[in-house]
Amino acid sequence: MPAISAGMTAEVRFDHIETRATNTSMPPAAEPSAASAPVVTLSGVTKKFANGTLALDYFDLTIRDGEFVSLLGPSGCGKSTALRLIAGLSEPTGGEISRSGIGRGGRSGNRLDVGFVFQEPTLMPWATVFRNVMLPLELQGVERRAARRRVTQALERVGLASFRDAYPRELSGGMKMRASIARALVTDPPLLLMDEPFAALDEITRFKLNNDLLGLWRAVGHTVIFVTHSVFESVYLSSRIVVMTPRPGRVFTELVVDQPYPRDERFRTSAEYARHCRIASQALSRAMEDGSPEGVS
Ligand code: ADP
Ligand code: MG
Repeated sequence: MPAISAGMTAEVRFDHIETRATNTSMPPAAEPSAASAPVVTLSGVTKKFANGTLALDYFDLTIRDGEFVSLLGPSGCGKSTALRLIAGLSEPTGGEISRSGIGRGGRSGNRLDVGFVFQEPTLMPWATVFRNVMLPLELQGVERRAARRRVTQALERVGLASFRDAYPRELSGGMKMRASIARALVTDPPLLLMDEPFAALDEITRFKLNNDLLGLWRAVGHTVIFVTHSVFESVYLSSRIVVMTPRPGRVFTELVVDQPYPRDERFRTSAEYARHCRIASQALSRAMEDGSPEGVS
């Protein structure tokens, strides 16, 4: 298994079908990003677990440089499975994954350069925020002074500079998640994978973190794959939404959220936001009803 640079080392307690938007009420898929290079491509990916559960079946997806893509689907449809496959934490049982945009060590090094943020912040309880965020750099053997500089910058980015010496128990849920995001970003990975990171937070905190995440994404310029089961969150954040079918997960359709960034609370209350939420919600309902990808009967 390849080493993952940021925040996913469990032992230290720290997803293209030919997607067809055949329904004319949907915006065409993949236009704004069509020119940028693919970061990761999943072709006909299947994942069957040892107990026989088929989680993903012919899952096709191309993620391009600089995109903010949400995987939207019901609980149990294989979103986390897809993310783990992309991260190299688990191997597909069929199909292929090309990670041309995230291999740092080249083929021989086989190390992926991915930041992973889980739903639980998974911070080391006995270590300060600073030490928690430092961990991925320590694991990479980054020289101490350079590492401290990068941790300081990561904490500033997520608004936790003044809590560097606090322990996780002293932080609110939102602040713990900020620390977890800082830890994932500290190695400056080109691809950030986020698995329902804000699902456990209250709505106001979630909105704030949504805004801050968008600010970070624009400032840092990395590619984000964001897993959520919330239509509203996916529309607010994403440049593209991949709507998945119930298990076994496949791509039902893709929606382009062709609304400009920066997005703020004005966007959240705009008619365009409501319109995109309606389209995404209808797509999700149809995915739940018939399950087969659009254009395939
Ligand atoms: P989601 O993240 O969309 O809620 P998951 O990717 O976690 O869904 O899971 C997809 C399906 O695969 C579910 O039915 C889940 O129970 C099953 N599953 C996930 N991990 C395993 C595993 N390690 N072994 C067996 N089944 C699993
Ligand atoms: Mg999940």
